[in-house]
Amino acid sequence: MEPTAAIWIRNPLAILADGAERGTVVQGGRIVELVPAGREPSTATAAVFDASAHVVLPGLINTHHHFYQTLTRALPAAMDRELFSWLQALYPVWARLTPESLDLGVTAAVSELLLSGCTTTTDHHYVFPAGLEDAIDIEVAAAKRLGIRVLLTRGSMNRSQKDGGLPPDSVVQDEDTILADSARVVARHHQRGEDAMVQIALAPCSPFSVTTSLMRATADLAEKLDVRLHTHLAETEDENRFCEELYRCRPLDYLEQCGWLNARTWLAHGIFFNAGEMKRLGKAKAAISHCACSNQILASGCCPVCEMEEAGVAVGLGVDGSASNDASNLMQEVRAAFLLQRARYGVTRVSHKDALRWATKGSAACVGRPELGEIAVGKAADLALFKLDDLRFSGHGDPLAALVLCGAHRADRAMVGGKWAVIDGAIPGLDVPDLIRRHSAAARAMHAG
Ligand SMILES: [Zn+2]
Repeated sequence: MEPTAAIWIRNPLAILADGAERGTVVQGGRIVELVPAGREPSTATAAVFDASAHVVLPGLINTHHHFYQTLTRALPAAMDRELFSWLQALYPVWARLTPESLDLGVTAAVSELLLSGCTTTTDHHYVFPAGLEDAIDIEVAAAKRLGIRVLLTRGSMNRSQKDGGLPPDSVVQDEDTILADSARVVARHHQRGEDAMVQIALAPCSPFSVTTSLMRATADLAEKLDVRLHTHLAETEDENRFCEELYRCRPLDYLEQCGWLNARTWLAHGIFFNAGEMKRLGKAKAAISHCACSNQILASGCCPVCEMEEAGVAVGLGVDGSASNDASNLMQEVRAAFLLQRARYGVTRVSHKDALRWATKGSAACVGRPELGEIAVGKAADLALFKLDDLRFSGHGDPLAALVLCGAHRADRAMVGGKWAVIDGAIPGLDVPDLIRRHSAAARAMHAG
């Protein structure tokens, strides 16, 4: 096989890597060399990309999202509510999701993510009204079309209102259907190995929307198929009360009883864990997706990120669904996490570099991909390049700090597996005005019912 041509990302304005002052060389989807100050690459480079106007980061990794929710942003009926009441307002709207509207929702979310410097994203899709049985297949197709790396989760809900759960009967499925389709999508789409572009994980929505039987069976299936596990946990005080009333224990105890407290699992939110629970999470090597914007909009609370990390828990960042953020911009999420955690812990414990680390190495741990999230030899050639030529950056000192402190929100370039997915601030082949037109029309149809 012909080795793919090497590209030297030359002379970056700044780069989040040690010993790479003159840039990095990528080849065959991997980072093959870091070029220190005063040196030339030792790899024969066929192409040079002049990065002298760019700040180069490892591609950002989004560890929690619900792509379809881009169709229900800033919906008046759901605004100014806390989680449970917010969900109850939205479920009937989400029940109207169709294959066509999902495709548009996914395309919008992934495009926003790519343009914000995100090169790997997860998605948690758990709404399966009749007619939307191929939801995960639709998501895979859109991700491949746009060139982003994905870990898509086959979500599920099987505890509806008639069984004491929150969702209406029309958006849930039965356990056998869920497990059969979970096995199907893993067999069909899950790629193994360090170059994987599409992976699948299993993801019951939350302890209050699935049965114990499904939680346990999902953990068993994930073990058998060797895939990751994801769910929402400890997002609100309401959830603690729900668990204590229904299961007579706290959410983490319940998770453990269901066979989930292990290194396969990453959890969205993780706000209401006590010190002992954080230690148990760390020991089990479970990871947390911190969703700073969503937690602030729904007033859920603040994930104790520093205590988590001190307890050995890897923490990544997630934009969360676009009905509770309502943006899908991961670079903005870095700033939001930085601000929220700095307000909590102070200037000596949280810096802009911590927030960037959460969105890269921390997120890589959440998705179980240590080959991502770092600019180092042997890692994946996933990069995000930002220019500092906007008015908002004018007068900056430290270019890396400026990204976070001045509020970068738009990547000029993004590379995924050695291929450019964003060029000059645009996704090649994507007609954004046309996407906005069709996505907005689909959203209006859903809102109107
Ligand atoms: Zn979520």
